[in-house]
Amino acid sequence: MPFIANYSLKNLNTFGIDVNAKWYVNISSEEDLTEAFGSPLIKENKLLVLGGGSNMLFTKDYDGIVLKISIKGIEVAQQGTDILVTAGAGEIWDHLVKYCVAKGYAGLENLTLIPGTVGASPIQNIGAYGVEIKDVFESCTAFEIATGQLRTFSKADCEFGYRESVFKGKLKGKYIITSVTYRLSNIPNVQTHYGAINSELDRRGIERPSISDISEVVAAIRVSKLPDPSTIGNAGSFFKNPVISQQAFDELLSRFPDTPHYPAPNGRVKLAAGWLIEQCGFKGLVDGHTGTWKNQALVLVNHGGATGQEVYRFSEKIIETVQEKFGVLLEREVNIF
Ligand code: FAD
Ligand code: NAP
Repeated sequence: MPFIANYSLKNLNTFGIDVNAKWYVNISSEEDLTEAFGSPLIKENKLLVLGGGSNMLFTKDYDGIVLKISIKGIEVAQQGTDILVTAGAGEIWDHLVKYCVAKGYAGLENLTLIPGTVGASPIQNIGAYGVEIKDVFESCTAFEIATGQLRTFSKADCEFGYRESVFKGKLKGKYIITSVTYRLSNIPNVQTHYGAINSELDRRGIERPSISDISEVVAAIRVSKLPDPSTIGNAGSFFKNPVISQQAFDELLSRFPDTPHYPAPNGRVKLAAGWLIEQCGFKGLVDGHTGTWKNQALVLVNHGGATGQEVYRFSEKIIETVQEKFGVLLEREVNIF
C-alpha cells in the first residue's frame, strides 16, 4: 500500500481531465486505512477521497493525497422477506445492481448503470427514475479521519435530501465510508411511473415487468440518452435540478407557461435544469474542447483535450445565461477540485 508521488488522475476521473495528484494511495481494506493514517504524510497534506471519479471536475493538479477507495466484498443476510446486502465501498455500483437483480433482490433496479462506487452512493443520495438510495439505505460504516475510529451511520444520521447528505454538509471531509448496507426485498415493488420507463415497457410489450425488465429498460434508456464516459468524458448531470418556492414558480410560469415542473417537499417546486439550459440554446453546443451533450443539455462533455478550467468557465456561462433568462440560479452537482 505505497504512497506514490506525482500520480496521473487522467484515467481516474470520468471527465478524463489530465491532472496529477501530489500523492496517491490505493486503499483495499479498513486495515489499509489505519496503516495509511499512520504515515506522517497524512498530517502534512490535505486529503481527497476518490471512488470512481464520476462526479468530479478537476480544475488543477491536486496538491495533496488522493485516497482511492478499492475495498471490495459483498455479504448477504436474510430477515424474513427482507435482504440486507452489505458491500465494500470500492465495489462498482453497477456490479452490485446487476448482482442484486440476478439474485432477485429488489430495490436497486431503477439505479442501473449509474457510474461510480458503493461508497459514494450515500454521499449525494444517488437517484434516478424515481428511486433514491435513501429508499433502500440501512446503514453505512465510516472511518473518522480525526480519530481513526469506525462509526456506524443509520439512515437518520445521514440526513438525506435531494442529492444531499450529511457527508456533503456538516460532516464534509470528516469521514471515509468503508461499507454500505442496503435493505432490499424478495418481494418486488416495481417503480415504473417515472421518465421514459413506461413508454419503453409499452414499446417492448411488457405488461407486468420483473426487476430484471426494469433494469434492462433503464439501461436501454440511459444508453440512448447519455454519453458513455469511456468514449466522451463527462460526469453526468453537471447541475442539480433547481427547487424553488411556489411564489417564484408562479412568476416564472406567467412568463414561461411551458416550464416542466414537479412537486417537491414542503410545497416547493422542482424544475428540470436540462430544459432551462436547452431553452437558452445550449443543447449540443460545442465550445472549444467542451460543450453540452446533444441528447441532454444537463450533461457537460469533454470532446477531447478539455481542461477542467475550460469546462468550469463554460459552466459559468450556462449559469449566467439561465439566470438572465429565467431568474433561476443553477447549482453545480459535480464536485469541483
Ligand atoms: P467520486 O466521483 O469519486 O466522488 C464523489 C464524491 O464522493 C467526492 O466528494 C468524494 O470525495 C466522495 N467520496 C467518494 N467515495 C467516498 C467514500 N468511500 N467515502 C467518503 N467520501 C467518498 N448520479 C446520480 O445520482 N444519478 C444518476 O443517474 C447519475 N448518472 C450518471 C451518469 C453518468 C454518465 C455519469 C458520468 C455520472 C452520473 N451520476 C449520477 C453521478 C455519479 O455517478 C454519482 O454521483 C456517483 O455516486 C459517484 O460515484 P464515484 O464513486 O464516482 O464518486
Ligand atoms: P428526464 O427523464 O428527461 O427528466 C428530466 C427531469 O425531470 C429529471 O431530471 C427528473 O428529475 C425530472 N422528472 C422526470 N419525470 C419525473 C417525475 N415523474 N417526477 C418527478 N421528476 C421527474 O431525465 P433524464 O436526464 O433522462 O434522467 C433520467 C433519470 O436519471 C433522472 O432521475 C435523473 O436524475 C437521472 N440521471 C442523473 C444523472 C446525474 O448525474 N445526477 C445523470 C443522468 C441521469 P430528477 O433528476 O430529480 O429525477
